[in-house]
Amino acid sequence: MDCVVCTSMPVILRPPRNTICGACYEGARGIINLINKLQTEKQTEKGTDHHTPSNSCKTLVDVSRWVSDRKDTEDVLKEEVSFLRAGFFTALQDQIHTDIQLQPGNNGLSVPAHRALLATRSQIFKNMLDSDECKAPPMDTITLSELNFEELECLLEFLYTGSLAKEKVEKHVYALSVAADKSLNSSNALDVLEISDICSYISLKETALNFIVKNMEDIAFSVRYDEFALKNPHLCVQITRASLMEAKKKIISL
Ligand SMILES: [Zn+2]
Repeated sequence: MDCVVCTSMPVILRPPRNTICGACYEGARGIINLINKLQTEKQTEKGTDHHTPSNSCKTLVDVSRWVSDRKDTEDVLKEEVSFLRAGFFTALQDQIHTDIQLQPGNNGLSVPAHRALLATRSQIFKNMLDSDECKAPPMDTITLSELNFEELECLLEFLYTGSLAKEKVEKHVYALSVAADKSLNSSNALDVLEISDICSYISLKETALNFIVKNMEDIAFSVRYDEFALKNPHLCVQITRASLMEAKKKIISL
């Protein structure tokens, strides 16, 4: 097949050089359909843009323009992300205006951090900082006895930058999930379940699910559960199933 798109030397083809092969044809249709689908979704999401027809992408020239637009958007987002990341992480590394000390277990070296950031990025820290025993004067210390120094640093890196290298996650996943487990309570368990589900953090998800099942009465009648159920119907199905299995286990053991 003399395809003008994928042949290495189109000039040696006989004029009018207007044949394309099945794969190139399918590929072109596929990418045009995909872009139109994405554009329609975006317009529906916005609910405003009725002027542009939804099948605005008709040719491969449109495709190339669309890809180049996306590339520009990606560059802008990358700049924004690195701006946000650099600011907070530098403040942590250089100890700029820190107002709380975090102390790992075994009397490890404490790490100065920022209350506002911890409370906004982590429900667990928010609860700890809100609780009376931690409403301490500036530069007071919270002890996280379940974590060693290296694990604490990883947790902070994640909270400050929004990401953590895969090998660090794998190395510390157990300790970090234990830390979360010790701090689980009826008011944060649904948040922990939601977050661990989004992050595919399997062991933490199991821990949170077990906690919820064991404290089902407190949680099922809370206002938070109504809100949670609307947002996470799939997790409610999992909670229901886990609760039934737990009830069954109790009956068998009687
Ligand atoms: Zn081809």
